[in-house]
Amino acid sequence: MTRTRSAAALRRTLDAFRLRGETIAFVPTMGALHAGHRALIERAAGPGRRVVVSIFVNPLQFGPREDFGAYPRTPAADLALCRAAGADVVFLPDPGTMYPGGFATTVHVELGTSVLCAPHRPGHFDGVTTVVAKLLNIVRPDRLLLGQKDAQQAVLVGRMIGDLGLPVVLDVAPTVREADGLALSSRNRYLTPEERTAAPALYRALQGARRLVRDGERSAARVRTAVRRGIAAESRFRLQYAEVVDARTLEPCRRLSGRVLVAAAAFLGRARLIDNVVVTVPAASEPARRPSQKGVVA
Ligand code: AMP
Repeated sequence: MTRTRSAAALRRTLDAFRLRGETIAFVPTMGALHAGHRALIERAAGPGRRVVVSIFVNPLQFGPREDFGAYPRTPAADLALCRAAGADVVFLPDPGTMYPGGFATTVHVELGTSVLCAPHRPGHFDGVTTVVAKLLNIVRPDRLLLGQKDAQQAVLVGRMIGDLGLPVVLDVAPTVREADGLALSSRNRYLTPEERTAAPALYRALQGARRLVRDGERSAARVRTAVRRGIAAESRFRLQYAEVVDARTLEPCRRLSGRVLVAAAAFLGRARLIDNVVVTVPAASEPARRPSQKGVVA
């Protein structure tokens, strides 16, 4: 495994891989790596494929009152995890490499701007799409791996790739969780032991929503209310939002149909936790279970 801070050196290394006919899979991260990142790196690897991981705490995606300064930075452990997970190259750019003086460009995706995290984190997704566009341009990967944990980010980056015709395939990997259901996150380190015990209530509330839909509930408002109640049951949580939107367009839903994203964000102490589930709602005309021709229930 090699590591570099230089975009030019990275390009030279990747050009050499391409000359040998190898493809490039790319995992962008902000470091403080955990088993969720590790799963992305392992998923990225494959025969004839080189895996590039970037580690960059992107100032553009933090609001002025957010945790940019406090965001955990664990470079030695990160490099060890990358090596163990099978990364070939780790790119650790300096802020000056990513945003040289006079940097004046923003990539804005006009989608889902009034739902989920977007209204609560003004400018956040512009920061994300801008840094991902720049990283894609430096790395020029064949495959980009993102986590479903950050569902809105994955949808926006997917739309940016489609709209701009960027030559990369997006692969969104499932959320990796602790045994008790808490989604792994670099920010989980902010939780006190008591808060950590309370934290799985967020995913439990989302699982409750999934069960409701499976049992036939089709009102988005009732599903949302159930998630809010589930989170409120753990009094230490301060809910930011619980919403139900179309998983592809991020349009708010009234009646549930197709692939639906149920997502929530809540503060627990100083940690802001987000999580989501995607539920596929069977079409109304489709019978739940239909006997096959042989009379066997499919
Ligand atoms: P971050 O370092 O938080 O910017 O995350 C880097 C990538 O890892 C993003 O694509 C995240 O969605 C993904 N990721 C973070 N946590 C998880 C998790 N628990 N499971 C799967 N992917 C994750």
